[in-house]
Amino acid sequence: MAIAFQLCRIPTRTDLFLPETFSLRCRKPLSLRCSGDSSSASSPAVAAESDFDAKVFRKNLTRSKNYNRKGFGHKEETLELMNREYTSDVIKTLKENGNEYTWGNVTVKLAEAYGFCWGVERAVQIAYEARKQFPDEKIWITNEIIHNPTVNKRLEEMKVENIPIEQGNKQFEVVDKGDVVILPAFGAAVEEMLTLSDKNVQIVDTTCPWVSKVWNTVEKHKKGEYTSIIHGKYSHEETIATASFAGTYIIVKNMQEATYVCDYILGGALDGSSSTREAFLEKFKYAVSDGFDPDKDLVKVGIANQTTMLKGETEEIGKLAERTMMQKYGVENVNDHFISFNTICDATQERQDAMYKMVEDDLDLILVVGGWNSSNTSHLQEIAEERGIPSYWIDSEQRIGPGNRIAYKLNHGELVEKENWLPKGPLAIGITSGASTPDKVVEDVLIKVFDLKREEALQLA
Ligand code: SF4
Repeated sequence: MAIAFQLCRIPTRTDLFLPETFSLRCRKPLSLRCSGDSSSASSPAVAAESDFDAKVFRKNLTRSKNYNRKGFGHKEETLELMNREYTSDVIKTLKENGNEYTWGNVTVKLAEAYGFCWGVERAVQIAYEARKQFPDEKIWITNEIIHNPTVNKRLEEMKVENIPIEQGNKQFEVVDKGDVVILPAFGAAVEEMLTLSDKNVQIVDTTCPWVSKVWNTVEKHKKGEYTSIIHGKYSHEETIATASFAGTYIIVKNMQEATYVCDYILGGALDGSSSTREAFLEKFKYAVSDGFDPDKDLVKVGIANQTTMLKGETEEIGKLAERTMMQKYGVENVNDHFISFNTICDATQERQDAMYKMVEDDLDLILVVGGWNSSNTSHLQEIAEERGIPSYWIDSEQRIGPGNRIAYKLNHGELVEKENWLPKGPLAIGITSGASTPDKVVEDVLIKVFDLKREEALQLA
């Protein structure tokens, strides 16, 4: 589901519904422009034209009586329910056999790390707990809890409703006092938290601690007056949230954009890809903080990342920025111009590492299972595509058929339909799934493949 926000005004008053000891006032208006749709012309730029301290606000919010991020004591029963709904016997068989098993003439090799990560499981489980804790209250969620259609549909069935969007704006006025609002695994922009705090609603925050770690990093950049170079997609909800906690920032989506920025810092001496200040601002118009000036704001930089980006690319961008600062200001002064903290999430890293290992195997094709708006899944597909292995990124078994046809996505988002995608005869298939994909969805995909092979055998008989 693509979600787009456009320019919206956040009220100036931010008296929090906090214990009396905590009181915070946002002295100047904050304006927010953010987009959840990469095709949208809006930007996540957050104009922090105020002395509002997002870190203090967040800290105080987490101590308020209307805030919960740990669940409500129903962990065991909600985990049991999730096990029933999302686990798979086929995956269990694979795991019991060293991640490789043969059904008929199909050998399936499962990646060493795949599927639900700790942060996703935690987020879904806390959302289930919220429903149990508040059986009669209206429960809203500010965005998809995770990027998986099966799980999101399940929450809909549990009457957890998305905040409606009209003309690109989230309609927070539907939320009433006494309602419950869930923040998803990839977090929410600080302005949304302010709005909810003002409404005195129960906030259930499922933000993954790895995402909060990135927020802490950009807050450190801000404190040290470093500009945050955020490796991410400017329209991705997680990056929108991270940008809202940053001071001055620029978002680069890949090495090419990072090279352009570094080339500009060096006055064209890196590879000549950059040009004028105007061209710079035009190129990054949706990806910089308000009032960003590349001539003034790229003197001190720090690196942060969307947790689901390619780990190796984030590292390369960090090294490039460090080398650039050394070249410009001298090796001895680099610490005054560059800082970096490791914010790459283990789960993303493990799934990518397992994929790099799997593409070394002798496989006929690879199936990458995960939501089509899942950034971490797109990178798994990217790794297979780079190796030239036939690889099919699908979000459910429904993308297979009728007959031997598949509709799948390429890593950059193009939708492709292919006939006779499943080769005849014995096959070796590699399979992996994104961090927000339940095992049950992977099982459904494999069962569809087995059915096709069974039909093929019957036709030959
Ligand atoms: S992929 Fe990493 S950052 Fe994202 S939810 Fe999972 S553990 Fe958290």
